[in-house]
Amino acid sequence: MTANDIEAIKQLLASPKKIAIIPHRNPDGDAMGSTLGLYHFLKQQNHEVTVISPNEFPDFLAWLPDAEKTMIFEKDIQNSTEKLKQADIVFTLDFNALHRVGDFMAATLEKLDTTFIMIDHHQLPDNYAKYTFSDTGFGSTCEMVYHFIHQLGGENLINKTVATCIYTGIVTDSGSFRFPLTTSTTHRVVADLLDKGVENPKIHNLLFDTSSYNRLQLLGRALQNMKLLPEYKTSYITLSQAELDQFGYVKGDTEGIVNYGLSLKGFDFTAIFIENKEEGIIKISFRSQGAFDVNQFARNHFSGGGHINAAGGKSSLPLDETVKQFIAILAAEKNN
Ligand code: 5GP
Ligand code: MN
Repeated sequence: MTANDIEAIKQLLASPKKIAIIPHRNPDGDAMGSTLGLYHFLKQQNHEVTVISPNEFPDFLAWLPDAEKTMIFEKDIQNSTEKLKQADIVFTLDFNALHRVGDFMAATLEKLDTTFIMIDHHQLPDNYAKYTFSDTGFGSTCEMVYHFIHQLGGENLINKTVATCIYTGIVTDSGSFRFPLTTSTTHRVVADLLDKGVENPKIHNLLFDTSSYNRLQLLGRALQNMKLLPEYKTSYITLSQAELDQFGYVKGDTEGIVNYGLSLKGFDFTAIFIENKEEGIIKISFRSQGAFDVNQFARNHFSGGGHINAAGGKSSLPLDETVKQFIAILAAEKNN
């Protein structure tokens, strides 16, 4: 984002505006943390601000300040559409292309005559926003929101509430400060957030120590389902809809399970395939360590995308056939 862009956005925000802030579909900690962090920042300047999530956010993020005020587009299409139509400014956070909000909501966004501002750290940003702050060098959109607020000269408005939201996305997208994009700047940002009053042990506890018994049993099943392809240093996990049902799956229960496939010694690529009967798809998450680009892999083969070491995609084949296809692609790609 150029100095001119920042100046123009400052001008735009100099008088009260109607603002909608949108995370990607199936929002994670970074998507919810960044949208709510920006919301609490803008609210202090007398703007009328609404976070509109394409669909439900997971339970483990429900404690985020004002999460309950989030409008859920797919559950309240009429009112959400009305809000979007009224908005002077629409921020889109933590995604790079409009289809990431789902096809129906994307069609609604495409029709809006409003000013879009994108803040995002995924590869290959689409060109729909008037102002685009896109940088794959950041480990989280939350860290970008922190810098964005500073660029606007609003750092005195980063209070404990804003800081709590921003901290949450930095923690979840960095795997608790361990992924490669966790820089010294990230740690300086976090140090400042702690100075603003962030209760870091409490947040980690709320994020990671609130599992249901069912969720841990589902994790057990997932680990037992893990298969190894040592010739490709690859592991993968499957979870069928029947297994999800057996353990009373609720949204968020499978979060983080994919990472176990990389905790095996000598393995640098892993995937989890999760059946979703309602949507008629297999949702896939990919993770890698080192140079193997899972963003490209997801884009090339599974209508997805993401980052070099963390990406997602989907398949409309049945679960077993999706896995067969995955293995065939690996054989073709990794043997040459
Ligand atoms: P996760 O596997 O945790 O759902 O997502 C990992 C990363 O890939 C996140 O940054 C997420 O936004 C991105 N991602 C997940 N699924 C998709 C998808 O279907 N399409 C694209 N473009 N990105 C995805
Ligand atoms: Mn993110």
